[in-house]
Amino acid sequence: MGATSGQGRQAGGTPRAALADLLAGNRRFVSGQPAHGHDVTAAAAASGDQQPYAVVLGCIDSRVPLEAIFDQTFGAICVIRTGGHVLDRAVCGSIEYVVGQLGVPLVMVLGHERCGAVQATVEALRIGRRPGGSLAHLVDEIAPAVTEAGIDDPAVLPLAIRRHVRRTVHTLRRDDLLAGPVAVGRVAVVGGLYDLATGEVALLDPG
Ligand SMILES: [Zn+2]
Repeated sequence: MGATSGQGRQAGGTPRAALADLLAGNRRFVSGQPAHGHDVTAAAAASGDQQPYAVVLGCIDSRVPLEAIFDQTFGAICVIRTGGHVLDRAVCGSIEYVVGQLGVPLVMVLGHERCGAVQATVEALRIGRRPGGSLAHLVDEIAPAVTEAGIDDPAVLPLAIRRHVRRTVHTLRRDDLLAGPVAVGRVAVVGGLYDLATGEVALLDPG
């Protein structure tokens, strides 16, 4: 989730216009004339069995498209995205599937600077008001990282973003079906941070 509003041409437009844009993009892709670098021949090459080598859990932020920022072709990585890369049973089950059934050896949790989900959690804690609906789940899951970072710390946002990545990594390493493969070294769960300004991914705890 972005801390600032999107700059897409259809932001605030109609659903019909948004759908038309989306489908036009797919037609560019299929016709072999993509405007953003994807390759339809790669899709054809990967249309058989899949053998991905990593799964990346990231945020839904529209500025952080995971296949693009890692320059991965079709069939190379599995991608899961939720607001603030928050875990739930569907996310954990998906990762368990990829690791257990597809034999993927690497799980990366990727946070990013200026994350709107973490920012929203900071604001919710500051005013003491929990959002309604399922948004509450996101805030509840991110809140411990914000509290640990210190709600009154001027740098609470970047600090909480890093803590939240590390907490997510820690939770996944202890997951029922992941803990075993992690313990014997068949699977690694790592945390990373994406810099919106430079496009660079840095490992939070390299080595
Ligand atoms: Zn985010």
